[in-house]
Amino acid sequence: MASPVAFAAQAGKLLRERALRPRLLAVRSQAGHLTPRRWLNLQEYQSKKLMSEHGVRVQRFFVANTAKEALEAAKRLNAKEIVLKAQILAGGRGKGVFNSGLKGGVHLTKDPKVVGQLAQQMIGYNLATKQTPKEGVKVNKVMVAEALDISRETYLAILMDRSHNGPVIVGSPQGGVDIEEVAASSPELIFKEQIDIFEGIKDSQAQRMAENLGFLGSLKNQAADQIKKLYHLFLKIDATQVEVNPFGETPEGQVVCFDAKINFDDNAEFRQKDIFAMDDKSENEPIENEAARYDLKYIGLDGNIACFVNGAGLAMATCDIIFLNGGKPANFLDLGGGVKEAQVYQAFKLLTSDPKLEAILVNIFGGIVNCAIIANGITKACRELELKVPLIVRLEGTNVQEAQNILKSSGLPIMSAVDLEDAAKKAVASVAKK
Ligand code: GDP
Ligand code: MN
Repeated sequence: MASPVAFAAQAGKLLRERALRPRLLAVRSQAGHLTPRRWLNLQEYQSKKLMSEHGVRVQRFFVANTAKEALEAAKRLNAKEIVLKAQILAGGRGKGVFNSGLKGGVHLTKDPKVVGQLAQQMIGYNLATKQTPKEGVKVNKVMVAEALDISRETYLAILMDRSHNGPVIVGSPQGGVDIEEVAASSPELIFKEQIDIFEGIKDSQAQRMAENLGFLGSLKNQAADQIKKLYHLFLKIDATQVEVNPFGETPEGQVVCFDAKINFDDNAEFRQKDIFAMDDKSENEPIENEAARYDLKYIGLDGNIACFVNGAGLAMATCDIIFLNGGKPANFLDLGGGVKEAQVYQAFKLLTSDPKLEAILVNIFGGIVNCAIIANGITKACRELELKVPLIVRLEGTNVQEAQNILKSSGLPIMSAVDLEDAAKKAVASVAKK
């Protein structure tokens, strides 16, 4: 593993990026490298429900879809103070701004009527935070919770860490704020515990983390207990990330998870059916949902060359080589394995719906995929969609000869490429000509 600082900074970056694209995600560095990922991301209220079911302490809450429901929920809570929280998948809500003019996606008040009034300015409006796109994300639901006083805010996250092949717990006594800022300005305040997935979390590790987070006296045992429960939850639900910020303490001496963010490993969908049924796709870009309907993975980028590929690795390589040749990918669409002709057509339809598009680069390696099926799909799509932009095709692997013949005999203006480099050069050149 890299240094804890680097790790925390990287983790923080990942978390922020994940928030931007909950379902289909491109983690981009400056150089334009891409790591496509697909992770289920739940709303705070859904995450907290799972947490409370596993003995993790969260505040009492209700969820409301309308201002009226929010008002009723506030009355029903019958709490000294209420906290109203806009539900979007991005963080930084506290400091966010609504396009209704309201400032702050998290509000504290003692008056249920005010909860109703505030909810009125939240629901149906976009909330922009530093983790959302500029225009923000539409709020459909609010969480109405019993507010508790916070005497101290710490940070706690459990993540899967590749370099150590297992979970790692990352914590800081400096919670509430951006963890990246803490990692940058006071790296000595970031602590981690690597967990051996076979041995599980040891008491000593939970205790040490609680101590590093600054919990004292009886709070230390309580915090350690909460950390262990969070770890068990993390494992049981196949999470890739459980983040609690703030993981706080109250003046009454309770350790409480004031915020919650959980991501899941989509490969575990088959054994986490109940959780995946909670998937809220309303924050996805419509085109991503449309792609998912056909079992395609689509990621929008900001260039002008569409990439039609199979496999995440090939997607990255294709984007990289376009960058290297001076071009910019507009998007990429991952066809996956087991392709049918109709899917190829749908894929083209999706790709060409992007108005920025000036060329399409097809880069398919036929391992499981039969190139002839792709070629037939391509020619069909070209005809039916009356494709207007240059199409560069590089096919390799199973049945490639037949595929080449199909393309050639189609009479369509398809540019064939001998390899990936050639394909990228042709694509970039075809765009540059314009
Ligand atoms: P985020 O901004 O999206 O991370 O949303 P949070 O749930 O973390 O809320 C933002 C901030 O509001 C927290 O860091 C807390 O300082 C504050 N906050 C949230 N819930 C409560 C609460 O019940 N009581 C108090 N006093 N502050 C709260
Ligand atoms: Mn938070």
